[in-house]
Amino acid sequence: MPVKQQIFDTLKEYFGYDSFRPLQEEIIDAIFDQKDNLVIMPTGGGKSICYQLPALLLPGITLVISPLIALMKDQVDGLKANGIKAAFVNSSQNENEQQEIYKDLLEKNIKLLYLAPESLSFLDAIFSQIEISLIAIDEAHCISAWGHDFRPAYTQLGYLKNKFPNTPVIALTATADKATRQDICNQLNIPHALQHLASFDRKNLGLEVRPGNKRIEQILDFLEDKKNECGIIYCLSRKTTEMLAEKLQNNGFKAEAYHAGIDHAKRSKTQEHFINDTIEIVCATIAFGMGIDKSNVRWVIHYNLPKNIEGYYQEIGRAGRDGLPSETLLFHSYADVVQLQKFANMSGNQEVQLAKLDRMKQYADSLSCRRKILLSYFGELIEEDCGNCDVCKNPPVFIDGTVIAQKALSCVFRVKEKEPIGTIIDIMRGSQNATIVDNGYQNLKTYGISKDIAWRDWQQYIIQLINQGYLEIAFHKNNVLRLTALSKKVLFDGEKVSLANLKEFEKRKEVVITQKEDKGAAPNLFEKLRLLRLELSREAGIPAYQIFNDATLKEMEKFRPMTDTEFMQISGVGRQKMQNYGSDFIKAIIDFSSEKTKKKKKGGPKKGNTHKETLELYKEGLSIEEIAIKRQLAQSTVFSHILKLHESGEDVDLNQFISTADIESVRKAKIELDDPGTLKPYFDHFEQAMDYNTLKIALTILKNNETTKKV
Ligand code: ADP
Ligand code: ZN
Repeated sequence: MPVKQQIFDTLKEYFGYDSFRPLQEEIIDAIFDQKDNLVIMPTGGGKSICYQLPALLLPGITLVISPLIALMKDQVDGLKANGIKAAFVNSSQNENEQQEIYKDLLEKNIKLLYLAPESLSFLDAIFSQIEISLIAIDEAHCISAWGHDFRPAYTQLGYLKNKFPNTPVIALTATADKATRQDICNQLNIPHALQHLASFDRKNLGLEVRPGNKRIEQILDFLEDKKNECGIIYCLSRKTTEMLAEKLQNNGFKAEAYHAGIDHAKRSKTQEHFINDTIEIVCATIAFGMGIDKSNVRWVIHYNLPKNIEGYYQEIGRAGRDGLPSETLLFHSYADVVQLQKFANMSGNQEVQLAKLDRMKQYADSLSCRRKILLSYFGELIEEDCGNCDVCKNPPVFIDGTVIAQKALSCVFRVKEKEPIGTIIDIMRGSQNATIVDNGYQNLKTYGISKDIAWRDWQQYIIQLINQGYLEIAFHKNNVLRLTALSKKVLFDGEKVSLANLKEFEKRKEVVITQKEDKGAAPNLFEKLRLLRLELSREAGIPAYQIFNDATLKEMEKFRPMTDTEFMQISGVGRQKMQNYGSDFIKAIIDFSSEKTKKKKKGGPKKGNTHKETLELYKEGLSIEEIAIKRQLAQSTVFSHILKLHESGEDVDLNQFISTADIESVRKAKIELDDPGTLKPYFDHFEQAMDYNTLKIALTILKNNETTKKV
């Protein structure tokens, strides 16, 4: 087994990360321990590194079985961008290309080989001449008919363990349910595999559910502060995807529709454009997403209610794989419920489908922490409310809804339980449409009893009454509203009803809008880095997020690295990427910072000079890093201010910014270099391990000491 240090060095060197995410380390240890493993991690949890990192340290080849050709190419490109030798074999290649791969395999020029299960025979000719150190089976649930993406070709994979009994196998999937899990292990002939079950909690995903009226307006509002951010809108019908894409295009967004009815070439193009950030928004039916490994999807909207929680969770899981905050928004409408109920009734196992739909509906209707409901669905219980769902952020205030309930219920009673929600509301609000007049409803006692409540609010209240069991929808009878045993208690026994105050919902919207304005105001280095990334990705012909993901760009924005050493410390920067892209990004950061300083100078020296501002913050006790963030300056700029302030006689203690060991090293270097007078010789002397600011500080302190001594 390699030593720990080697594992961590490899993590930084090739993947650019300093630490592991939960479970990654123990899985990797188990592989080096020759154990078989089953890994259950949610989408975006970080499954790939679990076999990619060991592959680099194991002597032979790691085989990766993967179901989707598109995904394979993407992964191999990603690995190559990190300086890792990888290749894939699938039916799209010609004989020459395959011969080339044989050659590379025999010459040990490949560490990871991706294969579709159908292409396993490719290896028959050379099995005896190569060493296979690890077998990884991605999307392993495809082997099981219990799972949701069964692939017949996967069922032959069990033979791998028979053929290589001593090679560890790692099977990976995001499908949690128990039956599937055991089935995977049995079929792969690894019945005693260690099972690593990661938490399904994706804390970075904000959860929000809104009523589904005026959806398009709501979407445009939601997108207002999301220009240039990528997202997916899932819809139930093909028609909706097209209608939405068009609406979004008309509003200046780069959006496309994606569904099974669009021809294959157009679909792959859309997918490719989305991966490459050329399209920002895909309006899709559920067919979209499985083959997509894009880490910077910033938001996911469900235009319609999904048919079950598994699907919903998988789809929102495509947002924020890079771990950055991402938003999800689900629209909840009863028309959707009706539609889905019809689908469920037509399906083979009606009962199961209806029960699953019911859970989905309960989630959408919930007035308590949504994440708790989601995770409990996957068998995971959390004690605390999450704080990152709409209910947590804005817990409903309840009002006494008894009178409202009585009005609605008695109206349902008077129309003899023969009308759907819309007509009931029309009657209470005294409208004069054809249905009302034709049925003589204007003569009812409840006609016009509540014009003071807006139509939309009535709809919300009635939905709440349904959720609380005071009314039910007869789905098989044109969705008419019916009374229940509970409603009789309200009508005849004076039972009290609590309803959530609808004003809360309005308030929540206001909050969203104020936040937006703040965001727009700050000049944005991230945006600049994003554009640079796009440009570089086009030149290199790889997806933008494979250059650096959004999390890495955010770190650059925060820490403003301006030297190679600083740049290498950014999470997500490994050796290869440093070499390929480091100088471009550093230049962009330096340019941005100096542009800002120039603008500030132009902006008006009267406002007080920049050194003074730094001094004030310093006196308040802020660290260099905090001042840099607060003032949106590079740390090196803040350092230079501190030095200037010191020179001009301000009371700034330089010793706190440097260790005595560093001062001592510089002192020795000064003698050795014979006091060269400029910084560069020192910089080279320390082989760039000490940055210019530290050097400057050390030299100033040394100079001060000398002066004091002389005095
Ligand atoms: P999965 O296959 O489980 O959906 P991936 O392997 O694609 O997830 O990883 C999701 C994202 O998380 C990728 O952008 C990856 O680079 C990043 N990632 C993985 N491991 C780490 C880590 N230890 N530290 C930071 N980011 C990581
Ligand atoms: Zn919550």
